[in-house]
Amino acid sequence: MALLVQKFGGTSVGSAERIRAVADHVAKTRAAGHDVVVVVSAMGQFTDDLIRLAEEVTATHTAREMDMLLTAGERISMALVSMALSAVGVESASFTGSQAGIITDTTHRRAKILEMRPDRVREALADGLVPVVAGFQGVSTERDITTLGRGGSDVTAVALAAALGADVCEIYTDVTGVFSADPRVVPSAQRLNRISFDEMMEIAATGGRVLMLRSVEFARRHHVDLHVRSSFTWEPGTWIVEEDPTMEEAIVSAITDDTSESKVTVSGVPDRPGVAAALFRELADAGVNVDMIVQNTSAHAVTDITFTVAKTDREAALEACRRVQPRVGAETVSSDDDIGRVSIIGAGMKSSPGVTALMFETLSAHDINIEMISTSSIRISCVVRANKVAEAVGHLHRAFGLDGP
Ligand code: ADP
Ligand code: ASP
Ligand code: MG
Repeated sequence: MALLVQKFGGTSVGSAERIRAVADHVAKTRAAGHDVVVVVSAMGQFTDDLIRLAEEVTATHTAREMDMLLTAGERISMALVSMALSAVGVESASFTGSQAGIITDTTHRRAKILEMRPDRVREALADGLVPVVAGFQGVSTERDITTLGRGGSDVTAVALAAALGADVCEIYTDVTGVFSADPRVVPSAQRLNRISFDEMMEIAATGGRVLMLRSVEFARRHHVDLHVRSSFTWEPGTWIVEEDPTMEEAIVSAITDDTSESKVTVSGVPDRPGVAAALFRELADAGVNVDMIVQNTSAHAVTDITFTVAKTDREAALEACRRVQPRVGAETVSSDDDIGRVSIIGAGMKSSPGVTALMFETLSAHDINIEMISTSSIRISCVVRANKVAEAVGHLHRAFGLDGP
């Protein structure tokens, strides 16, 4: 008998029929002799709908009230799934994040988990119930309701799996696993049977939204076995595993695309010590997460600094840059939303020369201009025009031999 955490994403609980299908699956898992803790997301696009509704009401809202609003989505799902379970004869009890003992810091809309005290979940399990926990939410040390950032139900599931010592954390979604590229962008993408934590983190960090990055980091740190699979076909999916040193690694395992970032350029800055420090301190203090950074070689002791940030952080980044502009003597501050990033990821890249050359040759052969480049030991990312991203991913997928038979 095993303890399984089963997390169901938005599409998986997107309708009454889907909720009944989820309940049937949980009932089958129980009938096979396993204990189950269920974690649910909001139904379908409900979180997006709530954000839109808030914006219709007023353009300015506090993060505290947004969290209060957004957590309602998961609350609806948890109650409905719990009702569906009792309809198929499985006793269950639903819990909000707060009731499940998910204690976070006070950063609304992207709170970090500080502590897990899932006593009520444990008690429910001991009483033979299936606990159904609302994903994406917790309660802060100031006793306010918080959310864990978009896609945060994955974090809830992994954190509960770690705290309860679950045998596996199953992430049920609308695709059959982790693919060599987003199957919606590259129809010939192949499902990977297993992928290393390192590669999965790079995929999650560069646009492959199938798992939220923080959930992968958390799972690795706490040795949680992760299995990404479909709630439509229920077939076995992709296991996220520690790298196996005895196995030969694929040179490139996946290609990702991401159009969620903007490019910000601070031009005409004097090329002297302290300028970058002043700029990035201001950005950090404004809570802006900077991703790629490029500084051009200076001509006449003047240079440009370009970096990318999430589109949702663009205005805060521009304001921070304008605040430091007079202090560092920069000429202009501008932004560009029409960019996207394509990345190639593979653990075998470390020991294979020529990967970078093939990536650049492939883009150049299709007349796709590279605007920025960044690398890690197992990833190469290029910023290109946004309207070239899908095309670039397709060409790279083929060039690196990832297309299916
Ligand atoms: P959920 O609501 O279940 O959390 P998400 O929409 O967050 O689902 O994540 C699943 C989606 O991730 C898929 O529908 C797919 O389009 C997208 N995706 C992006 N990259 C990949 C990839 N490499 N493999 C699988 N899915 C991917
Ligand atoms: N409902 C939340 C979101 O859309 C959390 C999740 O689905 O994981 O971001
Ligand atoms: Mg998700």
